[in-house]
Amino acid sequence: AERLDKDYVWHPFTQMRDWLAEPQLVIVAGEGVRLIDADGNMYYDGVSSLWLNVHGHRKEAIDRAIIDQLGRIAHTTMLGLISQPAAELAAELAAIAPPGLAKVFYSDSGSTAVEIAVKMAYQYWQLKGVATKRRFVTLANAYHGDTIGSVSVGGIDLFHRIFAPLLFPTVQAPSPSCRHCRLAGDPKRCGMACLAAMEDILARDHGEIAAVVMEPLVQGAAGMLTHPPGYLKGVRELTKRYGVLLIVDEVATGFGRTGRMFACEHEGVSPDIMTVAKGITAGYLPLAATLTTTEVFEAFLGSHTEQKTFFHGHSYTGNPLACAAALANLRVFREEKVLAGLPAKIAAAREQLDALRLLAHVGDVRQCGLMIGIELVQDRAGGVPYPAEAAMGARVCRHARRYGLIIRPLGDVVILMPPLASTAAEIGEMTAIVRRAIDEVTG
Ligand code: PMP
Repeated sequence: AERLDKDYVWHPFTQMRDWLAEPQLVIVAGEGVRLIDADGNMYYDGVSSLWLNVHGHRKEAIDRAIIDQLGRIAHTTMLGLISQPAAELAAELAAIAPPGLAKVFYSDSGSTAVEIAVKMAYQYWQLKGVATKRRFVTLANAYHGDTIGSVSVGGIDLFHRIFAPLLFPTVQAPSPSCRHCRLAGDPKRCGMACLAAMEDILARDHGEIAAVVMEPLVQGAAGMLTHPPGYLKGVRELTKRYGVLLIVDEVATGFGRTGRMFACEHEGVSPDIMTVAKGITAGYLPLAATLTTTEVFEAFLGSHTEQKTFFHGHSYTGNPLACAAALANLRVFREEKVLAGLPAKIAAAREQLDALRLLAHVGDVRQCGLMIGIELVQDRAGGVPYPAEAAMGARVCRHARRYGLIIRPLGDVVILMPPLASTAAEIGEMTAIVRRAIDEVTG
């Protein structure tokens, strides 16, 4: 596999040799929260196979559900047809989603779910006869995927720069990241300048704005940048006041990642459109969904010739195998009371992370449920970052791999996203490996 990989495979972000140690690791199996390579070595899956895996690998209940579905049908189009698992899953998603989200549009990745949300919001206003509402408010530091539409609503310069001529312009609001706000940490001083900036934009431009697009509570791909409590709720209130749709991207945060089924629940928020993917099949098969309200859906009911339809649909939409996996995923959540078990795991992680905070080269530790970012700095007192060419985050991840933990860097932020199925003891072991790797690389 290693030779074939070298000769033929183009990896996401092109090989990433700077942080993936040579030789290439070939994963042949998974077992619970661990991955097994071709030489039989075991590694903790510390990023849940890119923030996807929820209940561990080879979860019997999910394996069985997929095999059972295979015995019936693997795939059929959803163009005018429906499969039993796709119909059942839509009903279950509507039942567990924040109130009001009653219609489910399937796709196959987080990026396409966002792409769909954007097209949906745009066309909604066109169908309502408000042709001027065609722009989007986005947040600096946001990440929503890699298609042209989802990059357009993103805010990470590195992903934007090269494609800038292809992207549609947005109105960018400041990132609500407390890390980059000098007023953070003191609720009295905070006063949420980020929310005031959002209000200024909406008060000024609402006649042109179709929707605000945001990740709830935390900007994951930007390095787990957590937001001040109340920001999400505040944006919901503002969007309602100014007649703008709210699109919340729960692709990373959905399915228990933040301690609740959806991050919106922490602030009692119901968006107009919500995107989910990643954990929806517990990391088994590609599937995504864009959920919306009956109000938005009904605007699209009518004849095709009048353009009253949503011009979007993928070949693998609502794939029955993936939907069967998702149904099994939700069954495991219910039967094993996964959400009820999370507070103890999140608290265990917090306790371990508090010790990391004291290290000389750890500038910040951010945690939102089981989404964890550990930021490395040259000098904690002065907050001085390492030079980019030192690739400290990448080096820590390489060292961690030697000790049996797969994690990833986002710049100099080391990302730990253990599967929800990890025990408190396993999370402790993962954190201990991170600490050892940081000590070695920075010592
Ligand atoms: N939105 C968010 C918030 C994400 O974190 C990601 C992926 N990291 C995406 C969208 C894109 O999802 P996908 O990789 O499945 O296209």
